[in-house]
Amino acid sequence: MAQLKDDCFAFGGALMPVDEAMAILADRVAPVAKHESAPLAEALGRILAEDVSAPRDVPPHDNSAVDGYAVFFDDLNPDSETHLPIGGRVAAGHPLGRDAKPGEAVRIFTGAPMPAGMDTVFMEEDCSVEGDSVILPAGLKQGANRRFRGEDVQTGDVVVAKGARLRPQELGLAASVGRGALSVFRPLRAAVFSTGDEVRDPTDDAPDGCIFDANRYTVMGMLKDLGCRVTDLGILSDDEDTMAAALQAAAAEHDVLLTSGGVSAGEEDHVKAAVERNGRIDFWRLSIKPGRPIALGQVAGTAFVGLPGNPVAAMVTFMVLARPLLLRLGGATNLDARRFPVRSGFDYKKKTGRREWVRARLEHDNSGLVAQKYPAGGSGILTSMVFADGLVELPEERGNVKAGETVEFLPFNEVTR
Ligand code: AMP
Ligand code: MG
Repeated sequence: MAQLKDDCFAFGGALMPVDEAMAILADRVAPVAKHESAPLAEALGRILAEDVSAPRDVPPHDNSAVDGYAVFFDDLNPDSETHLPIGGRVAAGHPLGRDAKPGEAVRIFTGAPMPAGMDTVFMEEDCSVEGDSVILPAGLKQGANRRFRGEDVQTGDVVVAKGARLRPQELGLAASVGRGALSVFRPLRAAVFSTGDEVRDPTDDAPDGCIFDANRYTVMGMLKDLGCRVTDLGILSDDEDTMAAALQAAAAEHDVLLTSGGVSAGEEDHVKAAVERNGRIDFWRLSIKPGRPIALGQVAGTAFVGLPGNPVAAMVTFMVLARPLLLRLGGATNLDARRFPVRSGFDYKKKTGRREWVRARLEHDNSGLVAQKYPAGGSGILTSMVFADGLVELPEERGNVKAGETVEFLPFNEVTR
């Protein structure tokens, strides 16, 4: 069980800009996940818990970039073709085993170590062979088609830094310096609940007045995208005792608990009281739209995140606030989500002073990329998220937007990894 300080998320009161919330998280949240060793083949998507440094150069020897003939450049006639005897053969994995001799050419294949002393390789297509000799054209530059030892990685380089999320290319680079296993953070164990007497699982019936549970599926999906190990703990009724017992039981076996709904401080919202029985809860009111307050806290030392109930608000607050929190708890250091300038395809009324996200899809028109807005904007309109492939992010200081103006686009794939 992860132990957080009691006042880890203490925050009292007024509306807070997003950047301030990020700074508080950066200041207070340290990784809770333990380290373990993972074989490379199982390390995809994990977060690295060590700096991987290179115990050798990559490539480990000068080698040929083509199939052809290796020579000493100094043996070549500057203005006419050169005939040289073929004195040996090197294939990949099979070095010459002796120094090369001036005056000879060596048959060589891609990836084969350069014979010691030779510096230039002719492509076989440019050469002709007569008996035991090769005829080499004039005009090749010294060093042609030779790859240098260490041109990719040098001994001692840190090739992948602690805190990186491991993509296929990081695994390949770790392998290329001879690492067969890596120290990684254990995946965060996340427990997910929905709340509400009206909320039913889509495999059950939904009697009059009930709705099907969308949030558990969006939240579990986003958690899995971030590399968490997810436990589905179903739907909690609007009852403080039930919630308190379920949260306490889950806290013992998880690093983070996530709920949706029940946190807007109405009389049917019981999450706050349930959390406070065994922990602490703080309501972070961010100056954002969409997004209700998001509750952060801990239950018996395990991090707690209370997302709003409306499905779009739950997803957006997860992407913006829960994601960086979870990445930090899990050991990641690069939390950046990149925004890209695009042209707005819509007019939009905006108040200054808060950050707003507009669900949008990128399309091409005659003048390039343009962000199109979904017509309906309510925070319960989940079809808008399916239409969209990202969010147009309008910063605090921005006022109304006119079609044709430049806006920043945050693709979903920047906030789901
Ligand atoms: P609440 O914050 O509990 O008042 O919920 C706000 C709105 O979101 C209400 O209309 C709820 O019915 C709806 N809602 C809450 N949880 C879910 C859920 N898991 N799936 C879909 N809608 C939900
Ligand atoms: Mg509710």
